[in-house]
Amino acid sequence: MASKIKKGDLVKVMSGKDKGRQEKVLEVLGTRILVDNVNKVKRHTKPTQEHKGGIIEKILPIVSARVLLVCPSCKKAVRVGFKTEKEQKVRFCKKCGAVIDK
Ligand SMILES: [Zn+2]
Repeated sequence: MASKIKKGDLVKVMSGKDKGRQEKVLEVLGTRILVDNVNKVKRHTKPTQEHKGGIIEKILPIVSARVLLVCPSCKKAVRVGFKTEKEQKVRFCKKCGAVIDK
Protein backbone atom coordinates (compact mmCIF):
# COMPACT_ATOMS: atom_id res chain seq x y z
CA MET A 1 0.00 0.00 0.00
CA ALA A 2 1.30 3.42 -0.88
CA SER A 3 1.89 5.75 1.98
CA LYS A 4 0.47 9.25 2.03
CA ILE A 5 3.47 10.58 3.85
CA LYS A 6 6.98 10.09 2.56
CA LYS A 7 10.44 10.79 3.81
CA GLY A 8 11.43 14.39 3.07
CA ASP A 9 7.84 15.67 3.01
CA LEU A 10 6.95 18.87 4.78
CA VAL A 11 4.11 18.14 7.18
CA LYS A 12 2.00 20.08 9.65
CA VAL A 13 1.28 18.60 13.06
CA MET A 14 -2.46 18.69 13.74
CA SER A 15 -2.60 17.52 17.37
CA GLY A 16 -0.56 17.15 20.52
CA LYS A 17 1.98 19.46 22.10
CA ASP A 18 3.66 20.20 18.79
CA LYS A 19 0.39 21.19 17.12
CA GLY A 20 0.83 23.75 14.37
CA ARG A 21 4.48 23.00 13.72
CA GLN A 22 5.62 22.51 10.17
CA GLU A 23 8.60 20.24 9.91
CA LYS A 24 10.26 17.75 7.64
CA VAL A 25 9.67 14.00 7.79
CA LEU A 26 12.93 12.29 8.68
CA GLU A 27 11.80 8.70 8.49
CA VAL A 28 8.69 6.65 7.80
CA LEU A 29 8.29 3.61 10.03
CA GLY A 30 5.13 1.89 8.87
CA THR A 31 2.19 3.77 10.36
CA ARG A 32 4.48 5.97 12.40
CA ILE A 33 6.84 8.71 11.31
CA LEU A 34 9.78 10.60 12.68
CA VAL A 35 9.35 14.34 12.21
CA ASP A 36 12.14 16.83 12.77
CA ASN A 37 11.76 18.70 16.09
CA VAL A 38 8.43 17.00 16.86
CA ASN A 39 7.85 14.82 19.92
CA LYS A 40 11.26 15.63 21.26
CA VAL A 41 12.07 14.20 24.65
CA LYS A 42 14.96 14.75 26.94
CA ARG A 43 16.75 11.69 28.18
CA HIS A 44 19.15 11.61 31.03
CA THR A 45 22.13 9.43 30.38
CA LYS A 46 24.40 8.00 32.97
CA PRO A 47 28.05 8.71 32.68
CA THR A 48 30.12 5.89 31.22
CA GLN A 49 33.78 5.63 30.37
CA GLU A 50 33.08 6.94 26.87
CA HIS A 51 30.49 9.61 27.68
CA LYS A 52 30.27 12.22 30.35
CA GLY A 53 26.55 11.66 30.73
CA GLY A 54 23.93 14.34 30.86
CA ILE A 55 20.84 15.22 28.90
CA ILE A 56 20.35 14.17 25.32
CA GLU A 57 17.44 15.10 23.11
CA LYS A 58 15.73 12.38 21.19
CA ILE A 59 12.91 12.45 18.66
CA LEU A 60 10.23 9.81 19.11
CA PRO A 61 7.96 8.66 16.30
CA ILE A 62 4.35 9.82 16.12
CA VAL A 63 1.44 8.22 14.29
CA SER A 64 1.24 9.58 10.77
CA ALA A 65 -2.49 10.29 11.24
CA ARG A 66 -1.50 13.21 13.45
CA VAL A 67 -0.03 15.16 10.56
CA LEU A 68 -1.16 16.53 7.24
CA LEU A 69 1.04 17.07 4.26
CA VAL A 70 1.86 20.66 3.40
CA CYS A 71 1.13 21.01 -0.28
CA PRO A 72 4.18 22.37 -2.14
CA SER A 73 1.81 24.15 -4.48
CA CYS A 74 -0.84 25.84 -2.32
CA LYS A 75 1.26 25.76 0.91
CA LYS A 76 -1.67 24.52 2.97
CA ALA A 77 -2.01 21.46 5.18
CA VAL A 78 -4.05 19.21 2.93
CA ARG A 79 -5.46 15.76 2.49
CA VAL A 80 -3.79 13.70 -0.15
CA GLY A 81 -5.35 11.55 -2.81
CA PHE A 82 -3.86 9.08 -5.25
CA LYS A 83 -4.17 8.90 -8.98
CA THR A 84 -2.38 7.15 -11.77
CA GLU A 85 -0.37 9.26 -14.13
CA LYS A 86 1.85 7.84 -16.86
CA GLU A 87 1.31 4.39 -15.30
CA GLN A 88 2.66 5.62 -11.98
CA LYS A 89 0.75 6.10 -8.81
CA VAL A 90 1.20 9.68 -7.70
CA ARG A 91 -0.11 11.72 -4.82
CA PHE A 92 -2.12 14.83 -5.41
CA CYS A 93 -3.44 17.66 -3.27
CA LYS A 94 -7.17 17.38 -2.66
CA LYS A 95 -7.37 21.14 -2.23
CA CYS A 96 -5.70 22.55 -5.34
CA GLY A 97 -5.32 19.37 -7.37
CA ALA A 98 -1.57 19.71 -7.84
CA VAL A 99 0.43 16.51 -8.27
CA ILE A 100 2.86 16.18 -5.36
CA ASP A 101 5.14 13.44 -6.70
CA LYS A 102 6.87 14.41 -9.87
ZN1 LIG B 1 -2.45 22.17 -2.91
